[in-house]
Amino acid sequence: MHKQVENSKSNDKIEKIEVCYLCGKEFNINEDDESHYHYGQFPMCDYCSEFYGFYKKDR
Ligand SMILES: [Zn+2]
Repeated sequence: MHKQVENSKSNDKIEKIEVCYLCGKEFNINEDDESHYHYGQFPMCDYCSEFYGFYKKDR
């Protein structure tokens, strides 16, 4: 008998779709970009984070 193995990709990061509180765009907050929770609670997308100069990392 052939054993069927489920082809499930295990991602380290789980995609979490949030809606940017500034532009209303849906984005993955767990993406490795500048998207982050502004003030720890407002989802902000990569674009707005760069546009307004809010970065999750200190430079
Ligand atoms: Zn945005």
